[in-house]
Amino acid sequence: MRYHNITKDDMKNGDGLRVVLWVAGCLHRCRECQNPCTWDPEGGLLFDDNAKQEIFDQLDKSYISGITFSGGDPLHPANRAYVEDLCKEIKEKYPDKTIWLYTGDSWEGIYDYSLMKYVDVCVDGEFIVEKKDVTLMWKGSSNQRVIDVKKTLRQDDKSKPILHCGDYYANPITPDFVQEENISGCGCGCGGKEIAQ
Ligand code: SF4
Repeated sequence: MRYHNITKDDMKNGDGLRVVLWVAGCLHRCRECQNPCTWDPEGGLLFDDNAKQEIFDQLDKSYISGITFSGGDPLHPANRAYVEDLCKEIKEKYPDKTIWLYTGDSWEGIYDYSLMKYVDVCVDGEFIVEKKDVTLMWKGSSNQRVIDVKKTLRQDDKSKPILHCGDYYANPITPDFVQEENISGCGCGCGGKEIAQ
């Protein structure tokens, strides 16, 4: 597997402070993708033991909530098996940390992937620029869904996603939703946003 970046203390790609792995490789080719450089699975850097240790060093920190796999697309055929192995290793070493995974695939096509048993939250779907909304929470276009994978997989019909959260931040003062600053781009593999530095 190859990757473009590992970002630390990230607040824009899931709950809490997270380490984010931006993998290489995406087949979706969404219009106005902000990171077409991530489409090539041969791009970026080899994900080697040093890169893995960089992630583990972050997960060792008590204030890090977990890891987010983004990209590119972690479910690209070049990545999926390696991502599964890495998720398994992380859950064994860090059972209390959460795993988020962004993909351009739709839940209905991926819910039975074996790696999903390690994932806590999946943000699914391609970035559709006509449905772009910069105030959405954890995603960039309204077709995408922030899915509670554990709850969804406990159902008889696992193809029907149970959402981890609504579309927008809830205002703690009023029951209405409040539109906050953009915290996310497309919410798919690359998030429809530039890879964080
Ligand atoms: S927006 Fe995400 S899923 Fe779509 S082409 Fe770009 S990296 Fe791939």
